[in-house]
Amino acid sequence: MKKNGLILWKGKNNMDECLICGSKHFTEQKVNKVYEIDGSPVIVQNIPAHVCNNCGEKYFEGETHDKIMKMVYSNEIATETVEAKSYEFMVE
Ligand SMILES: [Zn+2]
Repeated sequence: MKKNGLILWKGKNNMDECLICGSKHFTEQKVNKVYEIDGSPVIVQNIPAHVCNNCGEKYFEGETHDKIMKMVYSNEIATETVEAKSYEFMVE
């Protein structure tokens, strides 16, 4: 299921193969992800995800996604502010 560009994992029992490559092997990992919130990039670190062993696609549980959304849309002060490099892709 795609939602805001994220594939949500609907509980371990309902999702047994990767939607991208069909692999059935996943590793639980903490990942970082950049979201665009009101036009600004926001980095969320150490998100628990199920990562496909074959293609590297990351799946998040719905509950995890909800927590992230609450975090990034709240007015809570971010853990840290980082400077990010930005490139615009140029078509020759
Ligand atoms: Zn895969």
